Amino acid sequence: MSARTKKGPSALSVFEVAQAQLDRAAHVLRLDSSVHAILSQPKNELIVNFPVRMDDGSYRLFKGYRIQHNNIMGPFKGGVRFHTEVHLDEVKALASWMTWKSALLEVPFGGAKGGIKFDPREHSRAELERITRRFTHSLGSNIGPDYDIPAPDMGTNAQTMVWMMDTYMNSGSRELKNAVRGVVTGKSLTSGGSRGREKATGQGLVFVLQEWAKDRGFSLDGATVAIQGFGNVGSHAARILGRLGASVVAVQDHTGAVANPEGLHPKRLAEYVNRTGGVAGYDHGVAIDREAFFAAEADIFIPAALEMQITADTAPLMKSKVVVEGANGPMDIDGEEILRSKGVDVLPDVLANAGGVTVSYFEWLQNRRAETWSLDDVDKRLHGMMIAAYRTMRRLAIEHSVDNRTAAYCHALSRIQTVYLERGIFP
Ligand code: NAD
Repeated sequence: MSARTKKGPSALSVFEVAQAQLDRAAHVLRLDSSVHAILSQPKNELIVNFPVRMDDGSYRLFKGYRIQHNNIMGPFKGGVRFHTEVHLDEVKALASWMTWKSALLEVPFGGAKGGIKFDPREHSRAELERITRRFTHSLGSNIGPDYDIPAPDMGTNAQTMVWMMDTYMNSGSRELKNAVRGVVTGKSLTSGGSRGREKATGQGLVFVLQEWAKDRGFSLDGATVAIQGFGNVGSHAARILGRLGASVVAVQDHTGAVANPEGLHPKRLAEYVNRTGGVAGYDHGVAIDREAFFAAEADIFIPAALEMQITADTAPLMKSKVVVEGANGPMDIDGEEILRSKGVDVLPDVLANAGGVTVSYFEWLQNRRAETWSLDDVDKRLHGMMIAAYRTMRRLAIEHSVDNRTAAYCHALSRIQTVYLERGIFP
């Protein structure tokens, strides 16, 4: 996919979609024009090209990005993505969404995002380690536990974070080694991670969905679910929803799509995906095509893969009551408009997938205080913060007569604006 979504002449790029979302909320809020101007572009855009030795002795040049959107509320914060479709426009959009997300959840972070344009599945573990370490080295002092804190995203995981942490630690002074553990979050438990971080995004998504279900008088027990993407976010959301009695009836990933009206058994499917790399060939369901996946009879639709999937092409097919955005930016402006006209509720990314950054904040706090919190403690705190953000969003949606996304942006933007107006713009 190119920077532009492949739909037609009026299609917007991912960053243009992000801008349009910002402009819509800025208008509702009558956002100060200088604050609006500042927030419409990232503060820093870093692109690094770095060579890495492959297992066969040859060298390959990689292109990496770190976009630091805003840090007025706290250190830049956001994931690192390893994927063939990583590009500047996408990372800029993703970084801005992190700023709104942190501000909405009231965690003391700003927004950033990074990535390397390559397919991690094509590389050995040793090559992945060298790519990750060389990228971290290239970023140098542009990251740090009080400046910019990366985390996992598509194509990266706890192991990637541990390599980044170790590289950063070993590039600085010896006496500060243990003090800089919080340079990344999403680490393994043994290397300083937090309990509950791995499932945090799926868990947070389900907490928000439960609150929506309460509002709507909808029972998750017996509900049907379709999920695009069965990695960290999709598979954890599926397993948690399965335990609540919901039935995952259709799943799509980069290898294909499978469906089973009786339910796909999330745990078994996750084990299959771990073993084979994707959902294609899973024999407790039937293979379906992309169109049939979007048209699946499912009460709940969870995009948990790439951006710009729900568009003028796919939204008309969808039959769900609610879309819960596990992925960042999974729908474009046309797709969102079509869903609205069909009366589909949308729980926007900046809220629905904010469990990740929230537990990342807990991990960062635990690192700073040399503490280890119990899973129960993490889940309770996460639940409280997700519910508070959901309630704020709903209150503002009603107050301003706007959609959930605009309402969520309004809370984030007004918090950021207050700080800019208090501090003034230097010099
Ligand atoms: P992951 O790498 O664990 O899984 C990604 C999934 O997307 C895989 O199932 C993959 O097959 C699928 N996918 C990739 N390309 C696809 C395509 N072209 N069509 C259909 N499926 C495709 O990634 P993840 O961490 O689960 O992230 C998924 C989404 O959630 C991303 O948008 C990410 O930004 C967002 N997110 C992740 C976190 C987190 O904590 N990991 C937090 C917030 C938001």
